[in-house]
Amino acid sequence: MPQQPLSQVPDDVVWTWQERGLCRTADPDVFFHPQNERGMARLRRDRAAKAICAGCPVKVECADYAIRAREPYGVWGGLTEEEREALYARVPATALPKISHVAELSADASMLGHAG
Ligand code: SF4
Repeated sequence: MPQQPLSQVPDDVVWTWQERGLCRTADPDVFFHPQNERGMARLRRDRAAKAICAGCPVKVECADYAIRAREPYGVWGGLTEEEREALYARVPATALPKISHVAELSADASMLGHAG
């Protein structure tokens, strides 16, 4: 079994934003793919998660955390695993982005602003 990558939780992380996340009342299975999910099933689930994130008042904080922590799985802040990977490739691991940086990067990629 391949080693599971771990998130790298930043030292300065705060969690209070999670109390306002819309996903608190959503099915967590919408945000995390089951093993071997592919194709349209994965696309539909990701879109459903992103639609919830689109209306979330802490979307930017959530995306900021997920990017800085290098969260390996799930939809966070409206960003899928693949979308976060694309951002990681543009940001050195030693230069963990702050919220403003995430917004700047995401504006370029049109990622944070779209609903799914
Ligand atoms: S942005 Fe999405 S994943 Fe993050 S707290 Fe809000 S609903 Fe949950």
